[in-house]
Amino acid sequence: MGHQHTYIKSLNNDAFEALNIKDQKLIIAGPCAIESEESLLEVANFLKSIGINFLRAGAYKPRTSVHSFQGLGDEGLAILKRVKELTGMKVVTEIPDPSYIEKFDFVDIIQVGARNMQNFSLLKALGKTTKPVLLKRGFGNTIDEMLSAAEYIISEGNKNVILCERGIKTFETSTRNTLDLASVAIIKEYYKIPIIVDPSHAAGRADIIPALSRASMASGADGLIIEVHQQPAYSISDSSQALDFNTFKSLYNELF
Ligand code: PEP
Ligand code: MN
Repeated sequence: MGHQHTYIKSLNNDAFEALNIKDQKLIIAGPCAIESEESLLEVANFLKSIGINFLRAGAYKPRTSVHSFQGLGDEGLAILKRVKELTGMKVVTEIPDPSYIEKFDFVDIIQVGARNMQNFSLLKALGKTTKPVLLKRGFGNTIDEMLSAAEYIISEGNKNVILCERGIKTFETSTRNTLDLASVAIIKEYYKIPIIVDPSHAAGRADIIPALSRASMASGADGLIIEVHQQPAYSISDSSQALDFNTFKSLYNELF
């Protein structure tokens, strides 16, 4: 272990308090990327109809290859804002760079992607806001490094940090990443910082997401973030891991 995580030790699940979901689970669902207003609205209306309050969808997609779909960008962000206004859902989306913070004013939870977990200027800039931040674990980072990244945000004054376990790179090839639920067990044992699990990016495949979701909740996770699409096969990004409406609804009803 490296340094003591003294800022995190001072927390008392502040982010959940700020979001008015104290003693509740945080369930976030939606497509990987914003594809159009019509399609996002359809997903949002479905989620709302089954009782989900938090909608995820990316406008700026941090793709490993520049040849992959990069997201709708500013147009996508405008669609997200409109869908929030139309449905009243709270929205979660990924920020690519500190210069976007002002544009993200309407966003309820700002997501820091796995590839940006140690982007310290981004972390410090978010630390100067009061926005809840969903900090995803880097796929090549230890639990201790994830906690150290959270310390950067809190050190600037923002206590509203939610961690997210989304799997790490290992030699395993059956899944996109390896879901490390030890992070959830350890963090819940020693700290009062919320941690949710993203089984979608951990698995990279839809078939085992229900099982990984059950395991996550059994490990003590404070919630889940899951990719859901009306027609997974046609999802522009991450189509193999998106759950269809029926599968997601059954899973949600079973778990919550
Ligand atoms: C995502 O949530 O769509 C995403 C890109 O996840 P990660 O940063 O965990 O790869
Ligand atoms: Mn995705």
